[in-house]
Amino acid sequence: MPIIRPEIQTLRAYHVPDATGLIKLDAMENPYAWPDDLRDAWLETLREVSLNRYPDPRGRELQQTLREAMAIPADAAVLLGNGSDELIQMLALTVTAPKPDRATTVLSVDPGFVMYRMIGLFAGLNYVGVPLKADDFALDADAVLAAIDRHCPALTFIAYPNNPTGNLFDPAAIEAVIEAAPGLVIVDEAYAPFTDESFLPKLGRWPNLLVMRTVSKMGLAGLRLGYLAGPPHIVEQIDKTRLPYNINVLTQASGVFALRHRAVLDEQTRAIRTERTRLFDALTALDGLTPYPSEANFILARTTPGRAGPIFDALLDHHILIKKLDGAHPLLVDCLRITVGTPEENDALLAALREILTAA
Ligand code: PMP
Repeated sequence: MPIIRPEIQTLRAYHVPDATGLIKLDAMENPYAWPDDLRDAWLETLREVSLNRYPDPRGRELQQTLREAMAIPADAAVLLGNGSDELIQMLALTVTAPKPDRATTVLSVDPGFVMYRMIGLFAGLNYVGVPLKADDFALDADAVLAAIDRHCPALTFIAYPNNPTGNLFDPAAIEAVIEAAPGLVIVDEAYAPFTDESFLPKLGRWPNLLVMRTVSKMGLAGLRLGYLAGPPHIVEQIDKTRLPYNINVLTQASGVFALRHRAVLDEQTRAIRTERTRLFDALTALDGLTPYPSEANFILARTTPGRAGPIFDALLDHHILIKKLDGAHPLLVDCLRITVGTPEENDALLAALREILTAA
């Protein structure tokens, strides 16, 4: 097809499997619903929303609520995105190479969040993925610093905690990356609700540091709302690539409402953290599966050689959907990723795994 860019033709579209009727432990969602009275109060606020009007272009009330709820430093500017995916896209559309003779490059670590590479490719940028250390998925600081030196990336994305490995990188190594990078460094804290660590309080310490977050994992994945915080003169430039009215009226009203009732979401994320510990211990006790420690709401686990596919399929027979990562990257051979669910969902998963692993 001559009219389609070759790199798009060879791409596989981001695949989202149908989860109808399944226990859904594949996408890092918060599994809990809201209590009925909260749901009723939310529906009441939606009555006031004018669907015939365009939304507030910058979502000012939502921004202010987010600033307070998330303790964003007062001197940082905030940009809202239709999910943090859209913020990655805006970043990719904004930058150019720090040195004129280089390709405009996006750098991250692999295995990492696939959208850094995909969106880089959509925007016509070069992608460089530096492998993590094979034994514990730690950031290989020397390798990243060498890649920065060589490729002069315009954008460096570091997910903290990392997806799909679940670990936090050494903050000193990230700081060395921020100091060495000639371009912007985005610390992606999508999994912030599940860890006590954050770079948000460090905003302003380096001129090229931005922190990106999302409300998806804390329990609002359906809203599609991400936010980027950083130096005002940089955020102002990224904002120019934002499509008009990117945050719709329902998301703005619901986001403000939900953040004002954040205690409910916090209680849910605390429950997920407790379940993460229980699930990790139970997975460790299983023969044939080795989980990796996680600071996120999912656990990466390695099966014995060649078993990831059969275990994934057998779980589907038990109506449980997880994520098969075997085949996605050489470091993920035999790996599966399990999102932490409710206690009942995790029990169902563990019972199914016990059956599958003893039958093998
Ligand atoms: N960053 C990371 C590290 C993620 O894992 C994800 C979602 N899986 C996102 C960003 C995107 O989040 P959203 O677009 O839902 O805000």
